[in-house]
Amino acid sequence: MHWFRFGLRRFGLLLGVALCLGTGIIAQEAHPAQQEDPEFARLVKQWTTRPEFISPLVDHLPLVAGIPTPKDVLGYYIGAPKKLTYYEQAVGYYRALAARSPRVKVIDIGKTDEGREQVVVFVASADTIRHLDEYKQDLAQLADPRHLTPLEARAVIEKAKPIYHIMGGLHSSETGPPEMLMELAYRLATEDSPLIRQIRSNVIVSITPVAEPDGRDRYVDWYYHHLINQTSEDDRLPGVPYWGKYILHDNNRDINYSQVTMRNLLKWYLQWHPPIMHDLHESEPFMYTFSGQAPQNPSLDPILYGELPWFSNFELTQMAKYGMPGVWDHDFVDMWSPGYLAFMASNHNGMIRMYETFGNGGANTMLRHIGRPGFGGDQTKREWYRPWPPYKEVLWSMRDNTNYMETGVLTALQLTSAFPKIILEDFYKKSLDSVNDGLTKAPYGYVIPSGQRDMTRVSLIVQLLLRQGIEIGRATGEVKVKEATFPAGSFIVKLDQPYGRLARTLLERQDYPDPKLNTYDDSAWTMGLMNQAEVRAVDDKAILDAAVTPVTDYRIPGSVKGADAGAVAFAVAHYGSNDMITLRYRLKDLKVEAADADFKAAGLDFPAGSFIIPASQQGGNAGPRIREAVDELGLTGAALTTAPAVKTHDLDLPRIAIYSTWNSTQNVGWVRYAFDQFHVPYDLIYKERARAGNLRSQYDVIVVPDQGRTSKGLVFGIPPVGKPIDYEPSPQFKSLGMYGSSPDITGGMGLPGAEEFRKFVEQGGVLITMGVASAFPPDFGITREINAGHTGPGFYAPGPIVQADILHPGSPIFYGYTHTTVPVRWANGPLLRLPLTDEKSEVLMQFPGGEKSVMSGLMRGANQLHDNPAIVEVPVGKGQVLLYATNPVYRWETFGEYNMVFNALMNYDDLKVAPATAAEPTAHPQ
Ligand SMILES: [Zn+2]
Repeated sequence: MHWFRFGLRRFGLLLGVALCLGTGIIAQEAHPAQQEDPEFARLVKQWTTRPEFISPLVDHLPLVAGIPTPKDVLGYYIGAPKKLTYYEQAVGYYRALAARSPRVKVIDIGKTDEGREQVVVFVASADTIRHLDEYKQDLAQLADPRHLTPLEARAVIEKAKPIYHIMGGLHSSETGPPEMLMELAYRLATEDSPLIRQIRSNVIVSITPVAEPDGRDRYVDWYYHHLINQTSEDDRLPGVPYWGKYILHDNNRDINYSQVTMRNLLKWYLQWHPPIMHDLHESEPFMYTFSGQAPQNPSLDPILYGELPWFSNFELTQMAKYGMPGVWDHDFVDMWSPGYLAFMASNHNGMIRMYETFGNGGANTMLRHIGRPGFGGDQTKREWYRPWPPYKEVLWSMRDNTNYMETGVLTALQLTSAFPKIILEDFYKKSLDSVNDGLTKAPYGYVIPSGQRDMTRVSLIVQLLLRQGIEIGRATGEVKVKEATFPAGSFIVKLDQPYGRLARTLLERQDYPDPKLNTYDDSAWTMGLMNQAEVRAVDDKAILDAAVTPVTDYRIPGSVKGADAGAVAFAVAHYGSNDMITLRYRLKDLKVEAADADFKAAGLDFPAGSFIIPASQQGGNAGPRIREAVDELGLTGAALTTAPAVKTHDLDLPRIAIYSTWNSTQNVGWVRYAFDQFHVPYDLIYKERARAGNLRSQYDVIVVPDQGRTSKGLVFGIPPVGKPIDYEPSPQFKSLGMYGSSPDITGGMGLPGAEEFRKFVEQGGVLITMGVASAFPPDFGITREINAGHTGPGFYAPGPIVQADILHPGSPIFYGYTHTTVPVRWANGPLLRLPLTDEKSEVLMQFPGGEKSVMSGLMRGANQLHDNPAIVEVPVGKGQVLLYATNPVYRWETFGEYNMVFNALMNYDDLKVAPATAAEPTAHPQ
């Protein structure tokens, strides 16, 4: 309520400020007295393929004695044909600029997987740069308005400056933005035009030169090695197999910030609070500027939904004014999934911004055709949001791309510099609204109850929320609310906090707003369901008064009851923690058995699958080691003085391979990441190893993660291009050949490779396939009884969370699971069918299907699923094939499903042990 009165009083004042700053055509003329680089103007004009593809903002470059231009350091102008800059060179340029210009500062924010330093570059007036830390404090204050009165907030806004953060190079094949940003930084630091002076004094521009530095270098190597002579868009040469260590495009879908480069940026964000984060991508002609179309997350602030088209329409207007065709907004990307990298800002009460400009996948000038069938929607069609569409055929260059991006960004900075106080006021108000929403709208909080059987997943949820800056308290006593009484120690997320809306977005069930609408990425991500953990929404406002102590870090300590002396065995309960497999590998030199059935000992329940470790090993001195590991991993165990009366089987450690094609490494990368995080060792193998044969001599289990679109793609891989395409390291191209190497990545494993998989299973191996890869054994005769079909027309399921029924709760695959109905993510896997005549194969889990089975997100045509197999176990020869129509290791997200794979690995040679007692036939609580 305060805010409203305050806002009205201030409006006149702010308007006055804005007018003084000037929003008219101050942009075009560079300072007449400033020296310019005539060679730059000449070459840029030459490289710009049509006169309308440039603006007065970027057709010139000032020269200032003593301050290095990009060309001074790199040796070429930005946008030069056939020139791409390596990461180290780019950072070298920013450092050189910062060394000479008091208007530029570079800070380190961490290191990548491959050890490259990540930096953020600030550009503003020299005075602003000198006082950067004070401006940082101002934004931190606005980000948490609980500590400010409206009057104080006004005072902070008066002296604060918005940070406008710009990022390039998140997607390595989108090569233009990292080039353009160097020229932008130089221009902002040196040009004396009224526009640039206004930006410099009213805005702090910060830059992530390359969001995925490892991938940048690998792609630039690839470009110089394979792509530089490409002359036509129809020369479809394959892309480089890897960008970063694990994933490619999904670095823009990493909702839980698993990847270290993304996490470093998030840490920086939470210290600096830029109200705007602008991510530069390439795909759409000539420039698409994101305006946040439907479906939209309704929890986010209405102010944000006004800001997005405010900016994009201003860009569209200005660029039309400069005579640049092909700029459009709306359409294309929606505001549903919060997992995009720049959503970091929207999730924290700032603003996500995004461009897609037109790139050629390198720096070659090429004739491009737009709107052809197979290239997505026809972008050359005039629409109300695309009044001046791109051309059907266009000769396009890196400099064209640079001109569009740079003009767009300068225009966005023009708007920000004209209304800096509005931007700050919006940021403050959105933060305040988030707190107020938590005080006025149910749910008022979420509770993650303590006392859940497996507390490691509670610990994971708490850590993931803390990572994003969400405040969590631990209940100091019992918490009584209308819904339930929660025990002391429960984790309470009160929503009357600046990031309350984010907590809600992550924890609530995704109630998809309009089933007719498609979405750009996942429709569901509910964290409790993904973890198969209990998370309760609380509509009783009393939750806000629950006494709590703040949690800054949380790790559940494990425990081993009883003393080592006199122990005959140590038992560790399998409560479904993903860390069980980590424990097994931690104790890999010890004999470890698994209980075939439930037992009780030392006052604890040990379900089937619990570990039993004979105490006589290691000279009877293994106790301290076991205790240390159990404690560190948050597990529950006991030292037993008598052996439990239960049958057991040895948990032998398998020799594991993960199979990857060369063209679809990303979902494989997520599995590699999960295995690495849980310390599961494996070999990563490719078609070369498959074709070499004799797989059984080297491996016990081969995992084929979801990859590609069809089983045919999995087998035949990249179509041959008439010459070998190598991915191998060389002195010149050091980042190639990492994570695997090949003299020719084309051609796939082919039928000979597929035959080796069949032999592997016949000879006793266990083959695990996930998602789309589960069509491979049926289609290529390994599990010839099974059929792999597809969903039909009208089916659309962008990653909803759906129910699955466990039909064989006694299978070792379900050790640790307590319910027979569990939430799993729908994965676009095949619709598997077993003929009635097949008596050997077993459906271990199935999708009941239908609308009611959708627990979160969107599934259209859900009736097409009707008791379809979700996991099938098929004996073949001496071995087994486990077909997962789910993708149990999907991104860093489906933690509740990981154990369906980890259990299979640990019990790979005992998958058929006698069923233990069945799990409770009740539905999962959430
Ligand atoms: Zn992209």
